[in-house]
Amino acid sequence: MSTIVLINTSYPDKDSNSYTKLSIPLGLLSISSPLISAGFEVILIDPQIEKDYIKKIEIALKEPPLFVGMTVFMGSNILNALNLSKFIKSIDARIPIVWGGPLATSSPEICFNHSPVDYIVMGMGEKEVIKVAQKIEQGKPLNSLANVSYKDNNTIHKKPIYNFCGDIDSLEYPDLTMWKRGIYQLNYIPILTSRGCPRNCSFCYNNTFTGRKKWYGRSMQNVLNEMSFWGNYFNKKSFHFIDDNFLVNTKRACHILKESIARNYQIDQILGHLNDFKPEILNLITGYIHHIGFSIESASYKIQKLLNKIIDLEKAFGILEYFSKNNVQVITTNFMFGLPT
Ligand code: SF4
Repeated sequence: MSTIVLINTSYPDKDSNSYTKLSIPLGLLSISSPLISAGFEVILIDPQIEKDYIKKIEIALKEPPLFVGMTVFMGSNILNALNLSKFIKSIDARIPIVWGGPLATSSPEICFNHSPVDYIVMGMGEKEVIKVAQKIEQGKPLNSLANVSYKDNNTIHKKPIYNFCGDIDSLEYPDLTMWKRGIYQLNYIPILTSRGCPRNCSFCYNNTFTGRKKWYGRSMQNVLNEMSFWGNYFNKKSFHFIDDNFLVNTKRACHILKESIARNYQIDQILGHLNDFKPEILNLITGYIHHIGFSIESASYKIQKLLNKIIDLEKAFGILEYFSKNNVQVITTNFMFGLPT
């Protein structure tokens, strides 16, 4: 059986004071499921959890894998991906390195020009990664793959971003069994109920990665089945909805919340756009969900226009006050600084 090594590149520098508990390698877990179903062995290495991850990587590479895969996005993650890729090439330059994720998808040229990455899967990777593994296993070139960019000598061949057009419910659940220690440390189960966003904020990775204004919501039944599946597996009733915008479809969100309440599930977090906190949503989440998040980004109308994200500040203050009065324990709002004017 051919092996693929996946490395979570999202981990804090040892000197940093990161306030987040653990970064969930959901992209890697999402591609693990179809790879395993297609008959490949997957080794996941997470430096957040494996203290001696360098040794673990060295052991995993003793028998060269088909490729080493990483998710690359903004932040310290880029440096980690770069350093790990160089390290892997220093062990065995023949091992292909495959990147995916928002940054690699939106800026493949930068990635190819500044790192030893061999291939970049453009956009959602569940389907394309199987073809990558099969081609490498068969010793065939990857240049015929529709959504995999590559560098040939000094020429970058940039391919279009994968355009998902199937049934989102047909995708396998992320393989959380690959990350058991993470789940036990988090003490909750992360659930991604949707992908993308129908809004069009100019800075958002969804515009490139998932497609401009595209939103794929899983059906209520599919989401609840996954909650039930992992809840039973890990013997937990605590979940976080980690969607960028859980509230896009009010009816769907209300159904999922109502059924979660009926099942006595504890939902610890939802994130949504301010305008999507409709009265029926507020009724359901008040007193039920401890952590609610939405982003303001900027109080300047000029900057908001630049970001294509107009936020009604009066409404934002009103909802913050409402959550505070109703004992929401954690309210997160994000702001951006340093934007050009
Ligand atoms: S509302 Fe949030 S998820 Fe949607 S496009 Fe804007 S930043 Fe992205």
